[in-house]
Amino acid sequence: MAYNKTEQYDEQTTLGLTDHYKKVLNLIGEDPEREGLLKTPERIAKAMQYMTQGYSQDARAILNSAKFHEPVSEMIVVKDIELYSMCEHHMLPFFGKAHIAYIPNGWITGLSKIARVVDVYARRLQVQERMTVEIMNAIKDTLNPLGVAVVIEAQHLCMMMRGVQKQNSETTTSAFFGEFEKYPTRNEFLKLISSNLSRK
Ligand SMILES: [Zn+2]
Repeated sequence: MAYNKTEQYDEQTTLGLTDHYKKVLNLIGEDPEREGLLKTPERIAKAMQYMTQGYSQDARAILNSAKFHEPVSEMIVVKDIELYSMCEHHMLPFFGKAHIAYIPNGWITGLSKIARVVDVYARRLQVQERMTVEIMNAIKDTLNPLGVAVVIEAQHLCMMMRGVQKQNSETTTSAFFGEFEKYPTRNEFLKLISSNLSRK
């Protein structure tokens, strides 16, 4: 049988959100009964649940589910991890890339788990600064590594579409623990994430 992934939404939550988004459409001067908008409240209700699914996920459990004993003590870097989140001040998207490194101390995790940890924290209402630290702490607490580094570069639609309307600004946040608090290690990581080695 071919691969088939089904989506599941909580019925009560979907109904409640749908009802509220109908009211929202009314309040902004729209007609929720016109053809193009008939199914919109339900679509947003589902999209919102998808985009906030991180609340019901546990980053530490994900990392622990693929934890392997391995005598590696070299820096492991996963860079250019796409991320899509929503700012908690305006509920507008911010999106960009996360670059993550850690230096194992006996334990490594699956590389895809690192990317999933980013999603767990991105798929909820966030501020970029807090998300950066949360990702670092999840890795630090589960793998007990010698060091962890997280850098996030993102563009915020709340700055681009409204407010100061700065279309080209990018916000960079970083969090460093252990070995990465020392200049040479941090510098090596920053060099690795800014190089184009893998791009032809
Ligand atoms: Zn905002």
